Amino acid sequence: MAKVLCVLYDDPVTGMPKRYARDTVPTITRFPDGQSAPTPTAIDFTPGEMLGSVSGELGLRRFLESQGHTLVVTSDKDGPDSRFEKELADAEVVISQPFWPAYLTAERIAKAPKLKLALTAGIGSDHVDLQAAVERGITVAEVTYSNSISVAEHVVMMILSLVRNYLPSHEWVKKGGWNIADCVSRAYDLEGMHVGTVAAGRIGTAVLRRLKPFDVKLHYTDRHRLPEQVERELDLTWHPDVESMAAVCDVVTINCPLHPETEHLFNAKMFSKMKRGAYIINTARGKICDRDAIVNALESGQLAGYAGDVWFPQPAPRDHPWRTMPHHGMTPHTSGTTLSAQARYAAGTREILECWFSGKPIRDEYLIVDGGKLAGVGAHSYSAGNATAGSEEASRYQPA
Ligand code: NDP
Repeated sequence: MAKVLCVLYDDPVTGMPKRYARDTVPTITRFPDGQSAPTPTAIDFTPGEMLGSVSGELGLRRFLESQGHTLVVTSDKDGPDSRFEKELADAEVVISQPFWPAYLTAERIAKAPKLKLALTAGIGSDHVDLQAAVERGITVAEVTYSNSISVAEHVVMMILSLVRNYLPSHEWVKKGGWNIADCVSRAYDLEGMHVGTVAAGRIGTAVLRRLKPFDVKLHYTDRHRLPEQVERELDLTWHPDVESMAAVCDVVTINCPLHPETEHLFNAKMFSKMKRGAYIINTARGKICDRDAIVNALESGQLAGYAGDVWFPQPAPRDHPWRTMPHHGMTPHTSGTTLSAQARYAAGTREILECWFSGKPIRDEYLIVDGGKLAGVGAHSYSAGNATAGSEEASRYQPA
């Protein structure tokens, strides 16, 4: 019987909700490309309730314990004295969400001789040293598409928030003001602007589709070109590389995975080629942007705004400069963990575990590493190597 070690974010500071804002969430059965939503044989939770925090346990306890497995759930994930590091020694399966990632570095993998499956409840497995997983023969899987649309909605919200200067205007209202000129001195219309996405995968394409009715000029760059019919339908301009796209855009949205090829892709050199006053929205991974270069570009006015929900490391230390830099619209890592998304990726996590424990193949679209190599979706979207370096800094986080 296996030990399953699950790392989840803390419960709300006011305790688990006793009543939710809404009574139901829509049931999504298929994603836009036709892929079916997760299909576990059963679920032991109510969709729309909190599953991603420690007490929610992703709704897995009854299922795992009924099969004789042990489930350990903790939020204590960083540093050598953390519960995660202690429990890792004899764990067969590690489950973690990108919002509160249990960094599985090569050192930690070396301390986990029984580890066979690293499962991401969500999308994005860059918190796992994929190179080390390849070398150790560990399977890495994630719940592809489970929260892609959740993120795309968030991207559109953040683009409009920055361009229209929503957050500072809202602050004026809360302060009791009616300072129209202060509010609009940085406010523009999105209409007519050039908006480009770095990567047109599930999220990037969903962002393009959602932006089309805003009458903007749409651009994208990706290693593989979209079908001609999609390019025509959305009137897309494709660019062979990120630099040529960023140079012509007013708004850039980053939607590629973090892997060695994309680490620090947005740095001072890239900003120097962009239009003065461009906006960047990054809901992909914090490390795709150079932390200090972002701060400098906002301070100098090279960038007009930066928003996103991804940081490095996570949780971000109290003194992370993105908390206090000018003209930002950052949130904690929330876009892919709405209550709606939690129901889907909890069901997907259960589907993967059901396959794992019954010896059935895991869907190809969920696989990142398998059989000692990049596999499934991972073989398409990632490159071999490691992007977890520096994650030990997360232990510097002090809750407010
Ligand atoms: P997909 O796998 O559908 O799309 C990723 C795309 O990125 C692919 O089209 C891939 O290209 C492209 N890509 C990879 N490397 C490069 C590169 N060097 N240059 C240009 N394009 C590249 O993933 P999703 O759209 O579902 O998710 C994307 C990322 O978003 C995730 O990896 C994760 O990091 C992040 N995410 C964030 C969430 C949040 O809560 N903030 C939640 C979910 C995901 P190709 O395959 O054509 O080679």
